[in-house]
Amino acid sequence: MIRTADVVVIGGGANGTSTAFHLTRLGVRNVVLVERRQLAAGATGKSGALVRMHYTNEAESRLAFESLKVFRNFGEIVGGDCGFESVGFVQLVGREYTAALHRNVARQQKLGINTRAIAPAEVGDLLPGADVSDVGAAAWEADSGFADPSATTFAFAEAARLGGARIETGVEALRVATDGARVAGVETSDGRIAAPTVVIAAGAWSTPLLTPLGLDVPLAPHRIQVAIFRWPPGLTRRHPAVIDAVHQAWFRPEGRASTLIGVELGSAHADPEKFHEAVDESYVGACRAALAARWPVFGGALMRGGWAGMIMMSADGRPIIDRLGPDGLWGMLGDSGTSFKTSPAIGRCLAEWIVTGASTTADLHPFRASRFAEGRPWHDPDHYGGQSLTVSR
Ligand SMILES: Cc1cc2nc3c(=O)[nH]c(=O)nc-3n(C[C@H](O)[C@H](O)[C@H](O)COP(=O)(O)OP(=O)(O)OC[C@H]3O[C@@H](n4cnc5c(N)ncnc54)[C@H](O)[C@@H]3O)c2cc1C
Repeated sequence: MIRTADVVVIGGGANGTSTAFHLTRLGVRNVVLVERRQLAAGATGKSGALVRMHYTNEAESRLAFESLKVFRNFGEIVGGDCGFESVGFVQLVGREYTAALHRNVARQQKLGINTRAIAPAEVGDLLPGADVSDVGAAAWEADSGFADPSATTFAFAEAARLGGARIETGVEALRVATDGARVAGVETSDGRIAAPTVVIAAGAWSTPLLTPLGLDVPLAPHRIQVAIFRWPPGLTRRHPAVIDAVHQAWFRPEGRASTLIGVELGSAHADPEKFHEAVDESYVGACRAALAARWPVFGGALMRGGWAGMIMMSADGRPIIDRLGPDGLWGMLGDSGTSFKTSPAIGRCLAEWIVTGASTTADLHPFRASRFAEGRPWHDPDHYGGQSLTVSR
């Protein structure tokens, strides 16, 4: 028997479950989410899950800010617990980017974000013993931090289910079915679901769903890694989350006495169907070196683990959130290693667009798929170098 749905969401990561939740919140009852493995099996479950507002453009800051409001009030807005920890966030840049950081902070303050530029010396109070001799400027966000990405996803899914959605794990979308120029549903490993609307939020596994539709979206799956280090003796206070643009690294507390770090040397094209899930030996050394360069007490720090996950990079390193190809098809594609923190707003924007015809929470035009064909890929004049980087960009 062919099942029916108003909307089928493909992918049970933070973005798919957020979209399903927001669709039910806007009154769509017959939502089916299909996830081929388990919830948060993709990039989401591997995420560093930094939640910061500091971007070098307004569009991403706005999505992050709308999302922060959800992370900070998750129980009331969604229900359940997203594990948000408000440890604060510091952005560090080198001297050549001092003016750019000040312009970015001013732009974010205009949006209402609680951020301010701080002197490099103040960074030493936040990271006791840190070497800030190469820091030109820093931004401080007291309200930011990190969340538990799997818990966030489970909570979105449960709230969607309570709102009437069906969450089907272990069910793979094999192809998006069309009828002429319209979406007709999804062929799954558990039969066909007829639906006029489909959202692809399949992360690094999206291309096999797009290609048969003739959609040539510039996307490449990348493997990125993290490592965890036990705190050295004497370090007892949890530190804020940090993006260190000088060392192209980002880190945050993990558990009660460890630090999780990613450096941007481990991003490489890989096959999402057979990638190595453990952290590379050489990467652990690179992480320890970057952490110790900023915070010398970590020089001999004990490695306590690490892992690798798959993200989908777009050609300009920014997400693609748009209507695609056949009528009735939407996509959250090319998460580019930065789309956990924005997932509450991305899901809401997509749901608004599908239900009301327009996204009112934020302007999604900068994320349009056509920017590549227009010859206008994303460019931030006030960037900090490393436009092709992922999380720490
Ligand atoms: C190591 C690492 C660190 C990161 N750090 C941060 C950070 O600090 N802050 C931040 O904001 N972001 C970070 N990210 C990026 C962030 O995790 C991702 O951008 C985000 O989780 C993407 O969510 P998603 O729902 O779009 O995709 P995913 O989480 O990848 O979910 C896609 C889901 O779709 C499923 N799927 C795929 N194909 C099919 C199919 N055909 N049928 C059914 N299901 C399918 C997959 O199994 C998967 O569960 C990091 C990522 C990694 C890997």
